[in-house]
Amino acid sequence: MTTRFTVRSPVTGEPVGDHPVHGPEEVRAAVERARAAARHWAACGWADRRARLLAWKRALARRTEEFASLICAETGKPVRDARAEVLLTLVHLDWAARNARRVLGRRRVPAGPLSVHQRALLAYRPLGVIAVIGPWNYPLYTPMGSIGHALAAGNAVVFKPSELTPGVGELLAESFGEAVPGHAGLLQTVTGRGPTGEALARSGVDKVAFTGSPGTARKVAAVCAERLTPLLAECGGKDAVLVDASADLDEAAEAVVWGAMANAGQTCAGVERVYAVASVHAGLCERIVHRVRALHPGPDPDAAYGPLTLPGQLATVERHIKEALAAGARALHGGPESLRPPYVHPVVLVDVPEDSPAMREETFGPLVAVNAVRDLAEAVARANAGGYALGAAVFTGSRRTGLAVAGRLNSGAVSVNSVLGFAAVPSLPFGGSGESGYGRTHGAEGLRAFAAPLAVTVRRFRPPVDLTSFAGSRRRVERAVELGRRFHARR
Ligand code: NAD
Repeated sequence: MTTRFTVRSPVTGEPVGDHPVHGPEEVRAAVERARAAARHWAACGWADRRARLLAWKRALARRTEEFASLICAETGKPVRDARAEVLLTLVHLDWAARNARRVLGRRRVPAGPLSVHQRALLAYRPLGVIAVIGPWNYPLYTPMGSIGHALAAGNAVVFKPSELTPGVGELLAESFGEAVPGHAGLLQTVTGRGPTGEALARSGVDKVAFTGSPGTARKVAAVCAERLTPLLAECGGKDAVLVDASADLDEAAEAVVWGAMANAGQTCAGVERVYAVASVHAGLCERIVHRVRALHPGPDPDAAYGPLTLPGQLATVERHIKEALAAGARALHGGPESLRPPYVHPVVLVDVPEDSPAMREETFGPLVAVNAVRDLAEAVARANAGGYALGAAVFTGSRRTGLAVAGRLNSGAVSVNSVLGFAAVPSLPFGGSGESGYGRTHGAEGLRAFAAPLAVTVRRFRPPVDLTSFAGSRRRVERAVELGRRFHARR
């Protein structure tokens, strides 16, 4: 008999749903169904897939309130944030559906001087069945960055949502089934905790797209290694904002506060560290504190953000605050008293030693550390010093400086004069390196992540010099090879 688990509201502790714990057998059966559906879907062609995915997108748009209220119930985030999450999801799904053929469709590529007799074609084939393992902080937007693109590339998907947000995952598969009839099994959701995710990674899928913490990513990678299953890993971040002396400090403070506090700081590419050049540090801090004073978390519609969704995260946030203060940091706003479970009020620290956990580990709470630096060069060095490399931002009065700094930051995405600028640009890829994982979602790279390139050559005529035949003149071949060698030696 299938066991079940209960999801509780992080706000009230009341049950908000009850879901099956899928075991290895059920997971394997879902993957089998997906495999049959994938063959059918791959044969459909680009136009048909695009039409069906756009039909699904329209259905999701019409069901925004239903998704938003479920996201809100499971994560505790304000409903307006949940609506924005649905909108962002629609934007990326729309892009994937409309651009899959352009990015992945068969095209002619130059054959090069040695192969003038060949027509060279590049095509991309779907991989088959993709396992998507998702987190809870953006339970729709984040996994859909993989699900939408994997489907658009012609694959089937089995989705394992976080055990904190299984309802959103189930609603997603249900909405797909309704909007795209005749493709049973193409998008399925399996629910459960870590072992269900592990069973999915081990089930013989053709790729795993994982989003979550680096610790879990390592476990998933170890399971994937058993069968050489490819893995895309989107892990956390410790994003830094760099503020130059020429920056508009009001704009910078506004962006820092939103980037650090929105969604209670539970954003993989949220702002956790700020490096401001010394001449503007005090002015920036004053503006940040002024703004955070106006924010409060809570369940009411006016609240800036909701609770920490994962109760265990409170201990991490508390440790980061206390260890920073013990090491000499100063609290400009809030402190350990900001923890009022399930909420954490905004915390702003300054002079935080670079080796303290608040500067090195992902906090995933509404805590921002604002340190002074000599110049932008030092800011870049400090920003690059940690193990994470996901997103970053730079505020400066000079676009040229902004672009130069962007090029020096060890990060998968950089916003100049905004934070998280890339998140709503569907043509840009998203992902990081180091502790932030590997691979990309979104954009053309996000489509190619779920497709295998197929190189095709079609011989157009018999070449005068054929390198792949014993029949022609050996001397001609040798002469051609020598000519080619000389050409490349000079070029
Ligand atoms: P998590 O690592 O605890 O869990 C992620 C998912 O993995 C869940 O569905 C979980 O059930 C599953 N899982 C757990 N153990 C597993 C195992 N052994 N094998 C397979 N699956 C397993 O992460 P979380 O707490 O759900 O999410 C928060 C983390 O996600 C943060 O670190 C955050 O930064 C990161 N995140 C990253 C991005 C990004 O795109 N880079 C986006 C959102 C969240």
